[in-house]
Parts: sequence; structure tokens; C-alpha cells
Amino acid sequence: MEQGQTIADCIAVTSARLASITDTPRLEAELLLAYALGLSRASLLARLREPVDGARLTPLLTRRLDHEPLAYIFGEWEFFGLSFHVHPPLLTPRPETEHLVETVLAYLAARPADAPCCVADLCCGTGCVVVAIGCHAPRASLYASDIRADAVDTTQRNALRHGVHVQCARGDLFAPLDPWCDCFDVVAANPPYVPEGDWTGLSPVITKHEDPGALLAGADGLDIIRRIIPEAHKRLRNGGMLALELGEDQCEHVAAIMRTHGFEDIKATKDLAGIDRIISGTRVATAV
Ligand code: GLN
Repeated sequence: MEQGQTIADCIAVTSARLASITDTPRLEAELLLAYALGLSRASLLARLREPVDGARLTPLLTRRLDHEPLAYIFGEWEFFGLSFHVHPPLLTPRPETEHLVETVLAYLAARPADAPCCVADLCCGTGCVVVAIGCHAPRASLYASDIRADAVDTTQRNALRHGVHVQCARGDLFAPLDPWCDCFDVVAANPPYVPEGDWTGLSPVITKHEDPGALLAGADGLDIIRRIIPEAHKRLRNGGMLALELGEDQCEHVAAIMRTHGFEDIKATKDLAGIDRIISGTRVATAV
């Protein structure tokens, strides 16, 4: 960075460098410089004519030019209006996953206020799904699992940050939750669902920095989902809801698997790109 430059100059130079790796270079330049200077974006933009020593920006810019997600550089990211701790290589919270939270909250809101409410979040990662649910459904008992120990730690940190109690344990899907609860009202998951063959076509922001284990699930991307559906059926009460995030073009296939395994009232929710992103269904009532 040159001597004597203003904040406006620094944003312009940084934005030009970021243009090769992002569609929103100006916004990212502002966010990175604001973070480097310990300012909010609004106060940065109120000081455009002030001189700045861009040295503090250099290491952050180098990381971003290596396609590192902003969420990892900042160590936190916003999801569902809440700020979450994020650390590599846990999946950064994505806007489309907010529809998973909305689906669960809409289901819970339609139930009697005094109904028991046990919610499981499988493959919880940073915990953004279960914690956002807990913030908006304070009466829910929350359970979460992930195969990674650092996901369990991060989920617990995020739960603490937002004053939500989550029983979270490391392990495979329901296995670590079984000692705590075996009859859920809701099972939610944003599991790995990317077909292995799609990996090389993904953005380097994902492939260079995020955990492939959180993304890839066999040839058609459904290896984990195929396991979750029957296991969820065993542990949901009659009428309980399973809600899953999906990849593009997986909805029909997953709906068929859910029907085969005793789910009804199957609904898809589109994300803002028009992709069927969330599927939900309720467990068909069985005679006791
Ligand atoms: N939507 C993610 C992506 O951008 C995938 C998340 C997942 O596999 N759960 O690739």
C-alpha cells in the first residue's frame, strides 16, 4: 500500500485486486478494510478522505486472494440475523440454510404452545441451525451432533454466545443423541449432499478451505440422506417433522425415499435462486 493514501484510495486499489476472485469486490474491500482498522463499515464509509496506512490490510487481503472465505478471516458470520463463531474448515453458514430454520420454526409455531418440543440437528457444524431455532423457539429442548469434535465445540460456543442450551455430542447422526432422547418432534439437518463428481466444479472458496467431509456424500450426493431418513423415522413421534437441506435436482428423488420410509405431507421450499432447497415431511401416524 502506498504512503499518503486515503481510505477511498485504499478501497479502490483493494477492490481492483479482488475483482479477479469475487463478484462483489467493492463490498469485500470495504469489509476487509473496516475489519483491519477495527471500524464498522458505516464508520469506514464516513471517513473516506482520511489517510490510512493499509499495512494491516495486507495479510487479510493475501488470505482472501487465496480464496479464503471472509467468514474464516473474520472468525464470525451472520446467519438468521445472528452472529456466529466460524472457524476453518467447518462449513460457513450460508443464506440458503436460513430456509431450513424457517421451515422448522413454521412447523413449531403451528403446534400448541404447551406441546413438548424436542429438536435434533444432525451434522450441526457451527451450530447455526440449532442455535437460530433455539433463539426463536425458547421452549424447545435442543440436541445436536456432528462427526467432528471441533463442530461440537463451536456449536457449544455459539449456543453460549446466544444464551441457548444445546445438548451436543460428537458422533454419527443419532448415535450420540440416543442416550438423551429417542423421541423427537423435529429432526433437521444440513448434511453433506454434494455428488463427488461435482467437487472440481465447485468454487475454490469451497474446495480450498472447507471440509470435504461436510460437503461430499457419494456418487449422487445422497449417501448420508439415505441413512438419515429411516433413522429419523425410528426416532420421530407420529406427526413429527423431518426437514433436510438438499442440492439442486435432488428433491424428487429424496421425496420418493421419504414416502417409502413412512413420511407424508412432503413439501419443498425454494431458495432465492429458485432451487428446491429444503424438503420436509411428517412421520405418518402408526397405531401403537
Ligand atoms: N450448499 C453447499 C454448497 O455450496 C453445500 C452444503 C452441504 O453440502 N450441506 O456447496
